[in-house]
Amino acid sequence: MKPAVLITGGSRGIGAATAWLAAQQGWAVAVNFTQDAQAAHAVAARIQASGGQAMAVQADVGDATQVMAMFAQVDQAVADWNAHWAGLVNSAGVVDQAQRVEDMTLERIERMLRINVIGPIVCAREAIGRLSLRHGGQGGSIVNLSSVAARLGAAGQYVDYAASKGAIDSFTIGLARELATEGIRVNAVRPGIIDTDIHASGGQPDRASQLAPHIPMQRPGTAQEVAQAIVWLLGEQSSYCTGGIIDIAGGR
Ligand code: NAP
Repeated sequence: MKPAVLITGGSRGIGAATAWLAAQQGWAVAVNFTQDAQAAHAVAARIQASGGQAMAVQADVGDATQVMAMFAQVDQAVADWNAHWAGLVNSAGVVDQAQRVEDMTLERIERMLRINVIGPIVCAREAIGRLSLRHGGQGGSIVNLSSVAARLGAAGQYVDYAASKGAIDSFTIGLARELATEGIRVNAVRPGIIDTDIHASGGQPDRASQLAPHIPMQRPGTAQEVAQAIVWLLGEQSSYCTGGIIDIAGGR
């Protein structure tokens, strides 16, 4: 039986690179998106064309009702694939325009925390019910996307984003300890500046190249470089790693 993984935000950037790499390593993959159906279907189609199993599934991770419907849809696909639930990657996440905290609207702060914090927690909750030995699952691995912003703070840019990723670090540590005897490992990766669309979505399309001189390795990372660590954390090769947070930041 193939292991199956749900990757939130699997349509683009780090999530898409992870979906492809996981599929190459034998995972059946559910590719979540919220808006860009074309991108999500392209990721799933590429995997299918290479002989793998994949589906695209729409849900706003910031909406618990949609998250539960998504898990139910993936349950059906996992059964159709004759696979078993074995992983969750919480990659969906957003930034916003660079702004000082004193200028942030409540709407912005709530959106940031709903998508970046409540989303991953609710997705993990749903995954636990399917993975935990305690609930009749076969065990598995949860990988969360944090950010070096969690320790740098992102002052003058998006402190709300940094705080959301700080919450992900704490969540990772706590959940790992809570589930340690139930067959579920929980880890996070903490990327630095990675060359994806996320910077354009925050109004700074050239951010990755502009910040390169401030990175010890003098270049942004690639989505592929982050995906390598995520897929390692997903699989059995990292079997003694839980509660870990891996910086992938070129020394930043
Ligand atoms: P990206 O290229 O902007 O892609 C974002 C992905 O998240 C897309 O697949 C998008 O779906 C999905 N998404 C956004 N809001 C969503 C929602 N409410 N519900 C479901 N899916 C949603 O971002 P990325 O750079 O790959 O970032 C992935 C993760 O890594 C994020 O958690 C981010 O905070 C973290 N990270 C990134 C960097 C970096 O420099 N890139 C650094 C540190 C941490 P659609 O395609 O449907 O829009």
